[in-house]
Amino acid sequence: MITVRQADKLISKDIKKYPSVRVPLEGAFGKILREDLIADRDLPPFDRVMMDGIAIDLRSWKEGNRAFPVRGIQKPGTPALVLKDPAGCLEVMTGALLPVGCDCVIPFEDIQLKNRRAVINNGFALKRMQNVHRKGSDGKKGSRLVPGGTRLMTSQVAFAASVGKKQVLVSRIPRIAIVGTGDEVIAIGQKVKPYQIRQSNAYAIEAALRLCGYDQVERFHVRDDKAKLTSCFKKVLKGFDVVILSGGVSMGRFDYVPAILTALGVKEIFHKVKERPGKPLWFGKNKKGKPVFGLPGNPISTQVCLYRYVLPYLNRSVGLKEPRKEFVCLSENVEIKTNLTYFLPVKIKCQHDGRLMGAPVFFHNSGDYPCLSRTDGFVELPANTFHFPKGTVARFYRWGL
Ligand code: AMP
Ligand code: MG
Repeated sequence: MITVRQADKLISKDIKKYPSVRVPLEGAFGKILREDLIADRDLPPFDRVMMDGIAIDLRSWKEGNRAFPVRGIQKPGTPALVLKDPAGCLEVMTGALLPVGCDCVIPFEDIQLKNRRAVINNGFALKRMQNVHRKGSDGKKGSRLVPGGTRLMTSQVAFAASVGKKQVLVSRIPRIAIVGTGDEVIAIGQKVKPYQIRQSNAYAIEAALRLCGYDQVERFHVRDDKAKLTSCFKKVLKGFDVVILSGGVSMGRFDYVPAILTALGVKEIFHKVKERPGKPLWFGKNKKGKPVFGLPGNPISTQVCLYRYVLPYLNRSVGLKEPRKEFVCLSENVEIKTNLTYFLPVKIKCQHDGRLMGAPVFFHNSGDYPCLSRTDGFVELPANTFHFPKGTVARFYRWGL
């Protein structure tokens, strides 16, 4: 049996990056950028007024002038006015150009405006270019402000819009098939018999994928029947880029999945990992390099393996640089009764000192899925250690992005 690290290595070997596609900016949220976003001009593009108030020539104030007749109004969205009279001022609004001949903006709060005359309050010093956002101070024209490989979240989308990208180059999202297996598993709308359970893993997988921007997904379910499994696997291997199976990879008499995949030309890269939950995890690729993840059907195993292996794989395959890596401290002593790598679900609390604490939520067994809804993710506790004192720093995998 291989270790978690070996499984990581084998999964990340020869990952083929999906090609890039140009999409409208509105449809790009959550996708991985495949071009650098460049400032198409200086940012800000002009000396920008940052407060509603007046703009003056500071020299006049330095010479003792405190009362400035208003010579005009500089509105945002209009070319710069010129202050011809250095002893006067122009009213300015946030977002407007700094008028020519002005080098200081004083907010309305600091002046008295009466009969078109602005009198500056006493008691504070004015500085050159105060309340002016200088041209190019956020980035010079041509500078690379968002590198390719970044996930387009709200601020990156806003930035793309600001530099005129109606369309952006992003990674094509893989088409993903989710296949649940098991005679006991039925669709959620059906009447459930005492010996049956409702499909839940496929929904968990789909929700996690969509949350992370993988919206090209389809769910299937097959009974533990060799012919049906064979025809379903053929279909999904043809029509999808990635196949995620749930169930049927353990040692049971009806766990046909590995043998059928092998017969269909999907080469087993590993089966079973020294971990709990998730030990029966199966991974293989077909001749075209399409990956197949066989996740153990127990709901905690399915979700842990999905977040621990499948999502990191997908994120690499779409070219995500610098994926999120989080750590938390255990909020209490933890005793582990196995020498396997242990994935422990935790509830996160942020302490007053800023430390993220993970409170263990122990499950009865890997079928105890209700406990997961009280957790935020899980920590990975290394193999061959049995005692983890309170405060131990552990890698944390969040249920989510
Ligand atoms: P298996 O990996 O097929 O041996 O299944 C392990 C356990 O997980 C069994 O108790 C199954 O009933 C359960 N299980 C399998 N598939 C699902 C599913 N899609 N949703 C919920 N539970 C499942
Ligand atoms: Mg099964």
